[in-house]
Amino acid sequence: MNDFPQGMVWLVGAGPGDPELLTRKAERLIASASVIFHDALVAPGVLALAAPRARLVHVGKRSGRHSKAQETIDSLIVEAALAGHRVVRLKGGDPAIFGRATEELDACRAAGVAVRICPGVTAASGAAASLGASLTLRGLARKLTFVTAHVRAGEALSLDWASLADPEATLAVYMGKSSAGAVSRGLIEAGLPGDTPVALVEAASLPEERQFHTRLDLLPLVARSALGDGPALLLIGQAMARRDGVTATSSAAFTVNS
Ligand code: SAH
Repeated sequence: MNDFPQGMVWLVGAGPGDPELLTRKAERLIASASVIFHDALVAPGVLALAAPRARLVHVGKRSGRHSKAQETIDSLIVEAALAGHRVVRLKGGDPAIFGRATEELDACRAAGVAVRICPGVTAASGAAASLGASLTLRGLARKLTFVTAHVRAGEALSLDWASLADPEATLAVYMGKSSAGAVSRGLIEAGLPGDTPVALVEAASLPEERQFHTRLDLLPLVARSALGDGPALLLIGQAMARRDGVTATSSAAFTVNS
């Protein structure tokens, strides 16, 4: 294939999980690869598209669990390419969003290995699609902010709350499950109303997907009590207000759709 010679690396977006949310290019590259390095977040249905003789290498990357160091991943990818493989580095969602793509691009370029990116559907888009909601809303949510709430062990979450607490924005918080309390507190202290609508989507687009609707002041409770083990995205802002008559201000702390 012209765009995938031996010795080349593609950073491929695997989307949020449902294999049908892959791009056609991603599907073709996955099927052509002789080696695939993938994260924990890449769903089995996506890996099933690999050629029968392709080598699948799990390189971890779930926060709090054992995963290979980024430099190790970088060198594994480069070594496989230099050995003449067609290498796919498969990442959940879009490789260019909270995916450490720069390190891998730099490592390939430094070694003279050709490398390109195939984009994917990011978790925020997958979650909005599952919710049947728009991330932007004419007049009410004119801005969409992607932020990661990931913190290294022992460090406190430090974000620019003043700029994030924008009532006319939708805030998509990646890796926010364990920081939900800090996110809620930070935004409310910076002036965002406690009744701001919040949607939480766990395992968006996968069979085990779950959705929760709540409000900003109740977010920590919901994140703690309702979310399970899967990857979860927090969507905060007026665009997440329920439009089907169910209000998050009812006596329940949250409503569930699954
Ligand atoms: N590159 C990825 C993001 C990687 S960071 C992308 O573009 O989507 C990993 C975080 O993404 C998870 O902690 C979670 O917040 C989010 N995420 C990934 N897949 C998800 C899914 N199927 N459902 C909900 N959130 C998901």
